[in-house]
Amino acid sequence: MPDATPRPSASLQRHFLWVLLGVAGMFAAGIALSLWFSLQSTRETQQYLIQVEAEQARSSVLRQLDYYRRVVDNTAQDSELAALLRAGSTAAQQAWALSRQRLLPDLLGMALVDPRGELLGDPTALRVGPACQEDLKRADALTGGRLLLHLDQPGLEHVELLAPVRDAGGQMLGGVFLSMRLAQLQRVIEETIHPGHAMSIVDAAGDTIAGKGSVEGPLWEVLLPLGDTGWTLVAQAPVQWLTVSGGRQVLAGLLTLGAVLLVLALGMLWLRRTMLHDIVATRDALDALARDETAPAIVPHYLEFEPVVADINLIALHLQEQRARLAHLSLTDPLTGLPNRRAFETHFPQALGLAERQHAVALVMLDIDHFKGINDRHGHGVGDQVLLALAHALKELTRRADLSARLAGDEFAVLLADTDAAGVDAWYQRLSDRFRGELNAFGLAVQTGISAGQTWLGRPDGDTLNAALARADRALYEAKARGRGRLVQQAPSVAGGTE
Ligand code: GH3
Ligand code: MG
Repeated sequence: MPDATPRPSASLQRHFLWVLLGVAGMFAAGIALSLWFSLQSTRETQQYLIQVEAEQARSSVLRQLDYYRRVVDNTAQDSELAALLRAGSTAAQQAWALSRQRLLPDLLGMALVDPRGELLGDPTALRVGPACQEDLKRADALTGGRLLLHLDQPGLEHVELLAPVRDAGGQMLGGVFLSMRLAQLQRVIEETIHPGHAMSIVDAAGDTIAGKGSVEGPLWEVLLPLGDTGWTLVAQAPVQWLTVSGGRQVLAGLLTLGAVLLVLALGMLWLRRTMLHDIVATRDALDALARDETAPAIVPHYLEFEPVVADINLIALHLQEQRARLAHLSLTDPLTGLPNRRAFETHFPQALGLAERQHAVALVMLDIDHFKGINDRHGHGVGDQVLLALAHALKELTRRADLSARLAGDEFAVLLADTDAAGVDAWYQRLSDRFRGELNAFGLAVQTGISAGQTWLGRPDGDTLNAALARADRALYEAKARGRGRLVQQAPSVAGGTE
């Protein structure tokens, strides 16, 4: 037949696991959120830093260019220059330019040109290359105010600034130009740039004028126009996903999560162990009760288990008392209070064992003489009183090692240990006297005696309860046959005795 009892579907272990998962999930969400905030703030900081860096570089570059612009403009205002351009010899004009070059050693070159842009002096001495000469001759070179960029000679990359020289009437007399090394702009970038960043100045055509570093992968970029030069300053920084502090934050979160999970897991294991201890103790006690054994008292670990455990302990105690009472009743004769036949049978193997260990154990069967007649004459109540009188006498004369039992009706059996035939005989005489005394004490005017048949327990070929009872019964039968009120002893088998 299938088991109809529904099984519990909930599992403590599963619930603990859910709690652990919940805690881990909450921590993971917390770490992710704090990481996201950290990334946001890192992102804003990075953008701010690259912006500041680019603006610093721009102002330095513009300052540099401005300085040379002012140098060339101020030089063009020089009052000597109009006369020199108008009337000076080429040698004087070259000498003037060279003297100014010496004053500004950072310059690549400085020279004077005529209104058509022709160089005034020797190009080699004045350090003016052919490409520069070509550019100077262009129509708007002097008046356009543009920067002329020359990247064609490696190591000598430069930019040229020009200023026209006019007389008082505004007549164009020529011009001054100076060429500034791009290495100076490069130096400005190198001084401003942060490690790991990239910065460059590109012209309108996209050619790099100066620059340093490169950034791979995702980057932040800031583009700033450099005044009216047409150039752009480009600053780049790599996007940093996880900064050191962000990493520490994640590590701290993970360590905390690990510690919390460890504490929770250990706590739950401990809780499980202690709870199991209480449950197992309860189960053991109930098992013992179910097996008819003495249940150990349960000592609970948790306060919460105390009421249940107290109830179980009480039930166990009641059950044990009830069992003891039942056991006593099942082994006791209700009328006389003597052990009954079952008790006698239970005890018998112990007496037989004693006999087999060379102790003399006598089995005596007793039967009240003419008991039926007492019943008939005086009534069943008196018959019961006679039975009680014999039981009293037996209780008085039975030693601790002996056993007296009522087998049935007016039939009793007694086991006497460590005695001999004379001892049994003496015991029988005492019992008969005592019985009579008890009858008197009960106020019973009954004339009767006890017949007894005795045998010794233990036979070389093995003894049994039935065999011993049969032998004692035969002896009793003989006592009855010989006229009642006497003891008939069987021939000795282990200890002495006479028939
Ligand atoms: P004998 O001398 O040969 O033993 O004769 P007897 O009359 O005693 O014969 P027996 O031992 O066979 O008689 C037993 C009687 O005991 C029969 C029955 O009515 C009576 N009896 C059995 N149990 C009880 C009991 O509990 N109370 C009373 N009053 N009588 C009982
Ligand atoms: Mg009888």
